[in-house]
Amino acid sequence: MSDTIFGKIANGEVAADLIYEDDEVVAFRDLNPQAPVHVLVIPRKPIPTLNDAGPEDAELLGRLMLAAAKVAQQEGIAEQGYRTLINCNAGGGQTVYHLHVHLIGGRPLQWPPG
Ligand code: C5P
Repeated sequence: MSDTIFGKIANGEVAADLIYEDDEVVAFRDLNPQAPVHVLVIPRKPIPTLNDAGPEDAELLGRLMLAAAKVAQQEGIAEQGYRTLINCNAGGGQTVYHLHVHLIGGRPLQWPPG
């Protein structure tokens, strides 16, 4: 199906600390967390970057954001606040080419990010 590590997590070939999943979306804890809560929310569909998402993915992109908000509730950081972000391509800091939303929180966050 997909040859990235996240594609393998999405299809169950590789284990991860899953904290949410449904038919289209999977969320798991980042292996190298940058905050007390650092979760990656990914589509099961292997879209490499945000640039590769098309109009047919509009609902899926919305589902990713709704799943992130649900996980934030689950993790108890919804009220204090958190950040969601997508790194796109090397210049944006992307290292894994399977679209993912970072959900980061549990500590004060600075702006702008580096
Ligand atoms: O946005 P970017 O592509 O840089 O994010 C990739 C993220 O995936 C990093 O935060 C990294 O720690 C995480 N990662 C992971 N498990 C892996 C490989 C990367 O949690 N096996």
